[in-house]
Amino acid sequence: MRYDLHSHSTASDGTLAPGELLRHAAAQGVDVLALTDHDVTAGLADAQHMAAEMGVALIAGVEISVTWHHQLLHIVGLGIDPAHEGLQRGLSGQRAFRLWRAEEIGRRLEKKGIAGALDGARALADGPSIGRTHFARYLVAQGEAKHLQDAFDRWLKRGKAAYVAGQWASLGDAIHWIRAAGGQAVIAHPMRYKLSATSFRSLLAEFKEAGGEALEVVSGSFPHGATPSLASYARRFGLLGSLGSDYHGPGHASELGRTPPLPEGCEPVWRDWLTPNCDP
Ligand code: AMP
Ligand code: MN
Ligand code: MN
Ligand code: MN
Repeated sequence: MRYDLHSHSTASDGTLAPGELLRHAAAQGVDVLALTDHDVTAGLADAQHMAAEMGVALIAGVEISVTWHHQLLHIVGLGIDPAHEGLQRGLSGQRAFRLWRAEEIGRRLEKKGIAGALDGARALADGPSIGRTHFARYLVAQGEAKHLQDAFDRWLKRGKAAYVAGQWASLGDAIHWIRAAGGQAVIAHPMRYKLSATSFRSLLAEFKEAGGEALEVVSGSFPHGATPSLASYARRFGLLGSLGSDYHGPGHASELGRTPPLPEGCEPVWRDWLTPNCDP
């Protein structure tokens, strides 16, 4: 069974529409795919439609932005009920912040002599969850950056002129919304946060205490050399292991369904799942 439990569509900052994403998943031999758009579940209905057609098991997911001790974290929810009101109330607050932040990013780029970025990013975000990636694509299209990474490095990452800090959900809120909607909370791409060992341990302890269930021990967004150490952290803190490409579309850093498997001895997050394709 090939699992990929972290991916994006045009509902947030992916470049494939949900249906196209599912076609691509089938072509890549993915058996179980989670669609985990940033702070939005709007892509899931179309994705589910095509999943049924393609014979791929779709896991309803979301990736929630969290502020934890001034650090931005991403918490993935897997197996959520997208109709859950409390979850949707939480996500719509996140998207309201995204809209305000987009205006602020636009103003800051304007001050630096880059006109039209807000409209440009809006035009590229055809879904309801606008983000920095849309600005990065606009900056590349305008010749203000060589590629996406360069746009983040010049303008959009923490410490740069168009980086807008702000208050996302708390870790406890994000876990609560996911659990209330029947899902499992997963710490996404832990190596991206560059936490000290001490902070990482306190994150894992707090996450577990608040009802978090899993850690992405394999991710398309960091080198696989980190996996053994992450798997041992997961074991030590009683967390399950998850894996995902963090796919954003063709030409982005990682391909769908191509991560290595979970290491031996790592309990998978799907241990207790009953997905249509998992029955022998
Ligand atoms: P946002 O949630 O709008 O703040 O945007 C975060 C998204 O931007 C991530 O999910 C990635 O898709 C992308 N991203 C963040 N940092 C970088 C980077 N250094 N290079 C390329 N893409 C990045
Ligand atoms: Mn993204
Ligand atoms: Mn992320
Ligand atoms: Mn992601």
